[in-house]
Amino acid sequence: MSEPTDDFELAGVPDAFQRLWTPHRLAYIKGGQAQFNKGEDDCPFCLAPARSDEESLIVHRGESCFVVLNLFPYNPGHLLVCPYRHIPDYTDLTVDETAEFAALTQTGMKVLRKVANPSGFNLGMNQGVTGGAGIAGHLHQHIVPRWGGDGNFLPIIAQTKAITQTLGEVREQVAQVWAEQLA
Ligand SMILES: [Zn+2]
Repeated sequence: MSEPTDDFELAGVPDAFQRLWTPHRLAYIKGGQAQFNKGEDDCPFCLAPARSDEESLIVHRGESCFVVLNLFPYNPGHLLVCPYRHIPDYTDLTVDETAEFAALTQTGMKVLRKVANPSGFNLGMNQGVTGGAGIAGHLHQHIVPRWGGDGNFLPIIAQTKAITQTLGEVREQVAQVWAEQLA
């Protein structure tokens, strides 16, 4: 039996939307417009860089942006690229920040290919609460590695077991390969 392609799991429904539109995230989305007003004091992406890489699951710190493992991964190795500045919108990035934001996204893909050999990726930013952003006040780009057939078992098993228990190990591995990539 050949591996099914995700694109055909649900007729007429692009897989990316199926994955990004997850009911358990409603708790965040229901924060509504208030999330835009959230200060840097209670923003997880602003708090993360102040702690150690291990505590915050950071895999790389750049000049203007950093890369962190998503605490609520859609797949193992799900990375988020964030500017250090607390800005909500892609158009708020300076030219320099935009360049590093893009470069870190590319390196993230290369690193994940070395670590886990995914056969595809979903890249993207949810802009604003209406766009589905979990933390709308602080811009972040998702890098989600994909494997053929991953949609089959993930919602049932992986999200509750395999992924959450190995976040520390995944961070270790990704951070190490990232450092080698730069060397
Ligand atoms: Zn922030």
